[in-house]
Amino acid sequence: MYFYCEKCKKQYPLNSHSYMCECGGMFRLHKDTDDEPVHEISLGEFQTPLLPFRDGKLEFLLKLENLLPTGSFKDRGAYTLINEIHHLGVKKIALDSAGNAGAAIAAYAAAAGMECTVYVPDDVSNELVTQIEAYGAKIIKVANGRMKACAAVKQNLGDAYYASHVYNPLFFEGMKSIAKEMYEQLGGHVPDYIFVPVGNGTLLIGLFLGFMEIGRLPHFVAVQSRKCAPLYDAYHGLPEQPKKTTIAEAIRIERPKRLDWMIEAIKASNGDVVTIEDCEILRAKKHLAHCGIYVEMTSAAALAGAEKFFQSGKPDNYRVVVPLTGNGLKR
Ligand SMILES: [Zn+2]
Repeated sequence: MYFYCEKCKKQYPLNSHSYMCECGGMFRLHKDTDDEPVHEISLGEFQTPLLPFRDGKLEFLLKLENLLPTGSFKDRGAYTLINEIHHLGVKKIALDSAGNAGAAIAAYAAAAGMECTVYVPDDVSNELVTQIEAYGAKIIKVANGRMKACAAVKQNLGDAYYASHVYNPLFFEGMKSIAKEMYEQLGGHVPDYIFVPVGNGTLLIGLFLGFMEIGRLPHFVAVQSRKCAPLYDAYHGLPEQPKKTTIAEAIRIERPKRLDWMIEAIKASNGDVVTIEDCEILRAKKHLAHCGIYVEMTSAAALAGAEKFFQSGKPDNYRVVVPLTGNGLKR
């Protein structure tokens, strides 16, 4: 396995100190058929349930990613990333995160005995900071938002490996397992629709890669907050709108680095991008909680997007999956 530049195809080793190509291109992962994934570090990963959920006249399948070891879907990417780089001898990592990725990578780094520093925007929830610090990681709070945290970690990397869930393709490689699980759980069927909350696009791109390997794509419908919707604007060819703060902090990404890849995934799947209001997110979160499911705002955003998309009804035979990305106790 090695990284290669998505623009000029130059190759880099997986433990390279470079996190993008010298030409400015982002990395992708090259895998040979005989490349065996490493499984040395584990926190007890398992296949998350696909729970049927009646929502008024609609029925969805909730993929309960909130139940994973650190409470979010990001554990899938962290598992693969940390396993591979630990195997290659990396001892010290740094990353930037709005919270879930920071917690997931800090936990797996702890299990691997790595030193870990997480740069977070200074308005990230206290619960997430507490969780990341509990794993023994160092927290550095950065003022003025998520993009500033990303700039700060890159400037101050020193001898640390940049274990980014956005730049590092090993993270996306780990995310693919969610597609394979759904396929198995549906008895060898691909869902008809998956509603994916989108910030940096980790879940969307992971699903895209996973279903590409399976050989058939569901329709991916990306869900963004109306207050911060760069993918919606780019996909629909709209002028860029000013970005505002949304309650769904995990999808509050103003300039996602993998925007082109996300658009490719939506187009290839004959999908769509929808936006929702904060009040719709809150209503969906409350509704889930009243049914016994306590999730973060971003998970509720996915359900709100599905409700809006199918507001005039949905054929009963459609298998529609709504991943619940994270636990409600964290935010
Ligand atoms: Zn390049």
